Amino acid sequence: METIDCAVIGAGVVGMAIARALALRGHEVVVLEAESAIGTGTSSRNSEVIHAGIYYLRDSLKATLCVAGNAALYAYAGERGVPHRRCGKLIVATTPAQIEELDAIRVKALSNGVLDMVLLTGDEARAMEPELDCLAALHSPSTGIIDSHALMLSYQGDLENAGGVLAVKSPVWAANCAYNAIELQLEDGTWVRCNSVVNAAGLAAPKLARRFAGLPADSIPTEHFAKGNYFTLAGRAPFSRLIYPVPEVGGLGVHLTIDLGGQAKFGPDVQWVSSPDDLVVDPARGDAFYAEVRRYWPALRDGALLPGYAGMRPKLSGPGEPAKDFVISGPADHGVPGLVNLFGIESPGLTSSLAIGAHVAGLLGGPLPAVP
Ligand SMILES: Cc1cc2nc3c(=O)[nH]c(=O)nc-3n(C[C@H](O)[C@H](O)[C@H](O)COP(=O)(O)OP(=O)(O)OC[C@H]3O[C@@H](n4cnc5c(N)ncnc54)[C@H](O)[C@@H]3O)c2cc1C
Repeated sequence: METIDCAVIGAGVVGMAIARALALRGHEVVVLEAESAIGTGTSSRNSEVIHAGIYYLRDSLKATLCVAGNAALYAYAGERGVPHRRCGKLIVATTPAQIEELDAIRVKALSNGVLDMVLLTGDEARAMEPELDCLAALHSPSTGIIDSHALMLSYQGDLENAGGVLAVKSPVWAANCAYNAIELQLEDGTWVRCNSVVNAAGLAAPKLARRFAGLPADSIPTEHFAKGNYFTLAGRAPFSRLIYPVPEVGGLGVHLTIDLGGQAKFGPDVQWVSSPDDLVVDPARGDAFYAEVRRYWPALRDGALLPGYAGMRPKLSGPGEPAKDFVISGPADHGVPGLVNLFGIESPGLTSSLAIGAHVAGLLGGPLPAVP
């Protein structure tokens, strides 16, 4: 049986960031990816927003890794020439009750260490974005957008420069954790012995972990899937910043994001589904978007929204339940030396990727990081 030092399962933005972090710390790393390329899962079906860390529970992994990841990502993208823009975002109140909610969001952001949020009157917000209709707004200057594929390619470059290897078309089927080393079984029947394994299989991570013999079943949470549908705007983007309503249960509300090419899209909405493979956008869902968007952009024309794409949130809470934190479960949590499982890495996973990489490398020991 072949032996490798570290195997990272999954070549999404999180798996690649972890693989890069481990390789830069001197580990011999192989990334095992089921598909034929990197980033074909959730990492290519998101909003590509660099979040500031505003909404998350104080001291949660989402809050701490997002705030650290935001700073690390801007520094990294600037240094490596990964296309990005610190465009900022406005969270808008369209009813008097929401004005109070804006202040609660600002206070929550402060407790997470996001110190740059500014409350604006409706007139001040309109001076920034003339097409906006709102009573008040919260401006987040440190929110931005990034080319997520260019980011993953850059992580891959770092991994390979540090001697790591990406193995595509290498789906992992199961593992045996009962001995000193972890033995991974690939779907083609091959076995590989590893000193450490990181399960970063995204939507499939809990299902895969249930096939790890020797891993306590109670360390694996139940997964739920919340699809997020996007509708793209035909024509010119009406705003230069991202525009978000006050958040709704399960997601951030039907917001407007722009990509680096200037294309505007609305979404994602929240649609609970039973299969993670259900990624078709039902054009009929667009009807609800018009009403949502017109609350803050009344000029939206009938017929201007076109079905775009959908992404799937790997949720650990079901419909109506409070949002749960990322679960990054290491040896101290489940008792298996050398194993780290990542569950529920929904938003802000892209923003947090560098910080997650450093965190996981820390759980697996080794030299202290010289780079984020
Ligand atoms: C609608 C939506 C919008 C979002 N918007 C944002 C945003 O604006 N900003 C932000 O910070 N975050 C955002 N996120 C979150 C972000 O996209 C995710 O946190 C991130 O992409 C997760 O990356 P990952 O590497 O964990 O998972 P994935 O990208 O899903 O990668 C997992 C990989 O594992 C592979 N795999 C699965 N099973 C196996 C197996 N058995 N063997 C080998 N390989 C396997 C898959 O093929 C896949 O390539 C959003 C998410 C969604 C759903």
